[in-house]
Amino acid sequence: MYTTFIVRMGGEIAIKGKNRPQFEKALLENMRLAVKGMAVKIVRMGGRIEVHVEGADPQEVADRLTQVMGVSSISPVAEAELDMDKIKETALRVVQDALAKRSTPVTFKVEARRANKLFPLESPQIMQEVGRYVLSQSGPDRLKVDVRNPELTLMVEVRESKAYVMCDVIDGPGGLPVGTAGRVMLLLSGGIDSPVAGWLAMKRGATVEAIHFHSFPFTSERAQEKVNDLAKILATHGGRVRLHNVHFTEIQKEIRKHCPEEYSITIMRRFMMRIAEKLAHRRKALALVTGESLGQVASQTLESMNTINHVTNMPILRPLVAMDKRDIMDLAKKIGTYETSILPYEDCCTIFLPKNPKTRPKVHEALAAEEKLDIDALIEEALEKTESILFTRADSM
Ligand code: ATP
Ligand code: MG
Repeated sequence: MYTTFIVRMGGEIAIKGKNRPQFEKALLENMRLAVKGMAVKIVRMGGRIEVHVEGADPQEVADRLTQVMGVSSISPVAEAELDMDKIKETALRVVQDALAKRSTPVTFKVEARRANKLFPLESPQIMQEVGRYVLSQSGPDRLKVDVRNPELTLMVEVRESKAYVMCDVIDGPGGLPVGTAGRVMLLLSGGIDSPVAGWLAMKRGATVEAIHFHSFPFTSERAQEKVNDLAKILATHGGRVRLHNVHFTEIQKEIRKHCPEEYSITIMRRFMMRIAEKLAHRRKALALVTGESLGQVASQTLESMNTINHVTNMPILRPLVAMDKRDIMDLAKKIGTYETSILPYEDCCTIFLPKNPKTRPKVHEALAAEEKLDIDALIEEALEKTESILFTRADSM
């Protein structure tokens, strides 16, 4: 494994105009946070970012950097002295490393860039010489030239004191650095969807705090741990996640006692929104985020969304609104939340699940159904009993 990486930032950062430095600064800070405590040096060099691993495990460094929002990709690079023979040998080694991970033959091309104009060969010559050498040493059964659509692009960069050779590209998430879009409050259940919604909000640069509603003692300690674990995983992507755990039992009991059963889910959701909004104001968050996807379940019809939304003026971001369950599950697997989400612990909503939830609830009916509840007092009480924990990246290791 190589000990130097170059990091490409997401294309959207590059077009930020006069705000670009602010986005780049956030990206660098987040990268440093991701490898905090490891022997790694991150330097800004001209238009790009270089990472020098000094004693840490390079694989671990690569894994962490490719989780940082705003990183579009990274490439391990090998360095060679400014001598054509050395460059060719290095190029061959780099290509062979890459071939070891693929089934051959692989199509490839060579690109060269000569920043150091004192180097005796020009870029096209470097390309040709390196290409010819690598090809002759690897053999046609392993490598084939294809300059139009190659599977492998070997890049040689001749700089002031060294040449850099690379060919592997490891994708990062792209997007914008966390911390550049302001703060949001994620309604985090123990399910598959909401952690993915939180990750997507992070990917657009939002700082994510999470709020979870539990019905202890009807929901168990283990169910709470599961949600903590999900928040920790999100913290590996976003640096940190503050989780607010709200005691929802009293509210659910009151709903059960005083409201028509078919409206219980709608009313529960309306309480969640009200409480989340209050907490968002306190925490200076500017939007709520949920894992809802249009039509997925009874409470996610447009009628439901209207009736639930009615209690708040805050923007509610629903990053999954147009996604299929299958795609959400794939993303959950990719970001590492899936295995935790499918653990079978009960959720506050499943415990109080009505037999026939209203799929098209109406605002006026919901208002009528809530009439006997002392809404403000219930909200105040729940907020008072809220416990907050801060998870940082380090908690998950
Ligand atoms: P998820 O997989 O995120 O649980 P879901 O498909 O189970 O979603 P619902 O149970 O209808 O859908 O919940 C819709 C959204 O409401 C969730 O994505 C989440 O944002 C929020 N939510 C539901 N239950 C809770 C809870 N106990 N605490 C916090 N938020 C919740
Ligand atoms: Mg759920």
